Amino acid sequence: MTTHFDLIAIGGGSGGLAVSQRAAEYGCRVAVIEEARLGGTCVNVGCVPKKVMWYAATLAEHFDMAAGYGFQVTASPVDWGQLKARRDAYIERLNGIYAGNLERKGIQRIEGRASFLDARTVEVDGQQLTAKHIVIAAGGEPMVPTVPGAEYGITSDGFFALEHQPRRVAMVGSGYIAMELGGVFHALGSEVTAVLRRDRALREFDGMLGEQLLVQMQEDGIRVETGCVPAALERVAEGLMLVAEDGRRLGPFDSVVWAIGRRPRSAGLALDAAGVASDAVGFIPVDRYQNTNVEGIYAIGDITGKAALTPVAIAAGRRLADRLFGGMDGRHLDYTDIPTVVFTHPPIGTVGMSETAARARHGDDRIRIYTTKFTPMSWALQSRKVPARMKLVTLLPDERVLGVHVIGEGADEMLQGFAVAVRMGATKRDFDDTVAIHPTSAEELVTLR
Ligand SMILES: Cc1cc2nc3c(=O)[nH]c(=O)nc-3n(C[C@H](O)[C@H](O)[C@H](O)COP(=O)(O)OP(=O)(O)OC[C@H]3O[C@@H](n4cnc5c(N)ncnc54)[C@H](O)[C@@H]3O)c2cc1C
Repeated sequence: MTTHFDLIAIGGGSGGLAVSQRAAEYGCRVAVIEEARLGGTCVNVGCVPKKVMWYAATLAEHFDMAAGYGFQVTASPVDWGQLKARRDAYIERLNGIYAGNLERKGIQRIEGRASFLDARTVEVDGQQLTAKHIVIAAGGEPMVPTVPGAEYGITSDGFFALEHQPRRVAMVGSGYIAMELGGVFHALGSEVTAVLRRDRALREFDGMLGEQLLVQMQEDGIRVETGCVPAALERVAEGLMLVAEDGRRLGPFDSVVWAIGRRPRSAGLALDAAGVASDAVGFIPVDRYQNTNVEGIYAIGDITGKAALTPVAIAAGRRLADRLFGGMDGRHLDYTDIPTVVFTHPPIGTVGMSETAARARHGDDRIRIYTTKFTPMSWALQSRKVPARMKLVTLLPDERVLGVHVIGEGADEMLQGFAVAVRMGATKRDFDDTVAIHPTSAEELVTLR
C-alpha cells in the first residue's frame, strides 16, 4: 500500500471528502482517514437523518391540516422504530455511495484514528503515512454539561440512536439543533419542554426569528422554560428530573437531550507533534486560505470554529484543492453572507446581517428595515393559523439589501435564490422591480413597503 501521498485528509466527513475528491480530480494521490462512518456528522448524525425526521414531522402536521381540505384522515401515531430502520437503511446506502465514489476516483480510504507524528507524518494504527499537504477535517462533537447525572441524558447523536419515541422530552439548549429536534419530537407526538439558559432562542440570528419561533412553539403546545440553567439530572422512579440552579424541578421526563453546543474533535490529533496551534477550546485557527500556522497543514470545516455548516466545509475543501492543485492562486472561500436554514415548524431561512449587527456596523440612521407578518394561504381553510414573518435589512442611501430573514412555511426553499441576490449586492429597488410569483409566500419579499 502507498504510504506517501500528495494530500491526506484527516476525516471523511463533508470537508474531508470534498477536498480529497477535488484533489483526486486534479490527478493527485490522495488518502482519506476516517475512524467511523464515511460522510461524517452530516450524513450519519446531522443534516441528513435530521431532515428525514423533519419530513416525517411535516407530514404529521399535514395530516392535521387534511380535515380543513375535506379529507377524512386520521394519522396513526408514527411507528418510530420503522421510521428509524428506514432512515438507517437510507444512510447506509449513502455510506456505500461515498465509498464507491472514493474507489472510483482512486482515493485510498484508510479506516482508523489518525494522529500526527510530525508536520508531514500521521499515524493510523501503527502505520505511518506522509504527505506534502495534510488537511485536518476532523469536525466536532456534541457537548454535555458537567452537572451531576448528565450521563442520564443524551445528545443529538443519541437522538438518532433512539429505537423508541420518548413520550416526555426535555430539550436543553437554544441553538438550531435544540429547536429542530424539539420541533420533531413535538410534531410526532411527544410532550416537549424546551429548556433555555436565557430568554431567547437562536441568538446568533436576527432577533425576530427566535422571538417568533418561541411564540409559535408555545402556541403549538411546547412548554418553554427560560432563564433555566441545569444544575443536575436525577433519576427517579417516574423518569428523569431536571434540577435548575434556581431550584426549579422539571419533569419527570423519559428523555433529556443536551443540545448545548458542539466542540472541536482536536484532542486526539496530537497537534503538538506537528506544531499546529489551536485555541483554548481546541478550534484550529486558519487564515482566509485555510492555512494553519504550519506550512502544508490546513484545516477546514467545523474544526475551524467558523460557520459550522456542511456546504461551508465542502466549499472550503474544494477551493483549497483548486488553489493547491488546480492552478487557481488566491482561490478561497468568502465567509460572508452564508445562507442557512433552521428546520423548525415553521422553518426559518436567513442570509446576511441581522438588524442588530447592521445597526452596530453602520449606525441607526443608515439602516432602513422592512417587515411583514401574514398568514400563508395554506392556512386559509384551517382554524389553526401559523403566521409567517419577514424582514429586509437595507443600507441607505441606495437601500442595498444586507439581510433577508424569514420564518414561515417555505422559508427553507425560498432563501437560496435571495442569497444570490444579496451576494450580488441587490438593492430594495431590485427587489421591487422583480415581478412577484403569485400566489406564494415568497412574493411578499418583493412587495414589501
Ligand atoms: C444534529 C445536526 C444537524 C445538522 N444539520 C445541518 C444542516 O441542516 N445543514 C448544514 O449545513 N449543517 C448541518 N449540521 C452541521 C454539519 O453536519 C457539519 O457542519 C458538517 O458535518 C461539518 O463537516 P466536517 O467535515 O467539518 O466534519 P464532520 O462531518 O464531522 O466530519 C469529521 C469526520 O472526521 C472523523 N474524525 C475525527 N477525528 C478523526 C481522527 N483523528 N482520525 C480519523 N477520523 C477522524 C469523524 O469520525 C468524522 O466522520 C448539523 C449538525 C448536527 C450535529
